[in-house]
Amino acid sequence: MYGMTEGLSGADKKSKNEGLDQIFNISVPMCVIDKDFNILRVNDRFCSAFSMKREEIVGKKCYEVRQGPVCNTSECSIRQILNGPGHYEYEITDKKLLDGSKVSYLVSAHPYRGSDGEIIGVVENFTNITELKRAEKELERINAELARKNKELQDVLYVASHDLRSPLVNIQGFCKELDYSLKDLASAIDEKCSHSDVMEKIKPILSEDIPVSIGFILSSTAKMDSLISGLLQVSRLGHAVINPEKLDMQALISGVISGAEFRIKEKDIKLEISELPSCMADMNLINQVFSNLLDNALKYIDPNRQGIVRISGYKKDNMSVYCVEDNGIGIASEHQQKVFEMFYQFDPAANPGEGLGLTIVRRIIDRQKGEIWLESEPGKGSRFFVSLPGA
Ligand code: ADP
Repeated sequence: MYGMTEGLSGADKKSKNEGLDQIFNISVPMCVIDKDFNILRVNDRFCSAFSMKREEIVGKKCYEVRQGPVCNTSECSIRQILNGPGHYEYEITDKKLLDGSKVSYLVSAHPYRGSDGEIIGVVENFTNITELKRAEKELERINAELARKNKELQDVLYVASHDLRSPLVNIQGFCKELDYSLKDLASAIDEKCSHSDVMEKIKPILSEDIPVSIGFILSSTAKMDSLISGLLQVSRLGHAVINPEKLDMQALISGVISGAEFRIKEKDIKLEISELPSCMADMNLINQVFSNLLDNALKYIDPNRQGIVRISGYKKDNMSVYCVEDNGIGIASEHQQKVFEMFYQFDPAANPGEGLGLTIVRRIIDRQKGEIWLESEPGKGSRFFVSLPGA
C-alpha cells in the first residue's frame, strides 16, 4: 500500500500529514492520487458518498476503480495538473452509483506538492451538483418549450391576421356595393311611387335604417381592419430580418421629428433635443420605435399647459440609453407595465389608436437585445427609456 507522504523527510511527512488531516475533515468527499495514478488516501465522506470501503480504493490505480463515480476519471486531471500550473476543474454528470441513483459532481483538483515544491500528485475534492444540474436541465427544457410555444403563437398570429384580411375586404367591398344599390333603389322608388302608402313605410327604412346599419358595419370593419393590420405588423416583427448598423441617432431623431413637424406646430410643443450617443441597431426598426414614442408624447400631452418634449441620451456600460420625456398627462403606477401589453389602452374613448404602438416598440427592442422601461407620474408626465447596444 502507498503511504501518503512517501518520499518526504520525517518532519515534512509530519507537517504534510497534519495539514492534510485538517483538510480531510471537511464535509466534501476528497481523495489524494500520486502522479503514477495510485490512490493514496480518501476521507470518510468519500467512502460514505460513494458507498465504497476504504480498502476497495486506497492503493489501487485510479483507472482501476470502476464502481465509483470519481477515481476512474481522475487520470485526466493528474495529466492536466502535471502539465500546467494551478488548479483544474471538471464536471462528472449523471454518473450511476451502485444503488442505481445518478449523481453529478464538480471536481476541483489541486497540485499535491512534495517538500521541494515538486508536484507529486493531486488532491481532488468533489462538490455535489446533482440538484444544480437537474435545475439546469429543467431550465433548458422550459426554455426550449417556451421557444416552441412562442413560434407557435407567432405562426397563429400571422395566419390569423393574414387570412382574416381577405374576408374582411369582401365584407367592406360588398357593404359599399349595398350602399350604392340602396341609393339607386331609393331614387327609383321615389320616382315611380311617390304618393303610395307603401312609400311612406319604406322611405325611412331606405333613407335611415339601412344606411345607419351599413354605416355601423363599415365603421366596425374599418376598426377590425386596423386591428388586423396591427396584428399583422406585430407578427411580421417576429420574423423580420434585423440589419444592425452603426446609427447616427442625432440624424435619425431629426428625421423622426420632421415627420411629426405638423403636429408639433399644431400643438405648439417645445422640443428639446440633447446630444445623443450612437448605437448598433436596425435603422428602419429604430426609426419606428422613436416615431411611436414621439407620437405618444405628442398625443398624451396635457392641453392645459405648455407642452414640452425632451429627447436625451447617455452611455452606460456598453449600452446607449435614450429617454423620450414629456410633461403630459402621465400614467398611474398600476398601468405602467400594462401599457406594453397588446391592445392595452388606458382610455380608448379619449384617444384614437389600437393600443399596439408600445407592444410593437417593446418587440423591436427585445429583438435587438435592448430594454425599454418607463417612469411616470399622473399629472406630471412620462419618461420612456430605451437601451440599445452601443456603437
Ligand atoms: P395607443 O397610443 O395606440 O393607444 P400605445 O401602445 O402606444 O397605444 O399606448 C398604450 C397606452 O399607454 C395608451 O393608450 C396610453 O394610455 C398610454 N401611454 C402611452 N404613452 C403615453 C404617454 N407618453 N403619456 C401618457 N400615456 C401614455
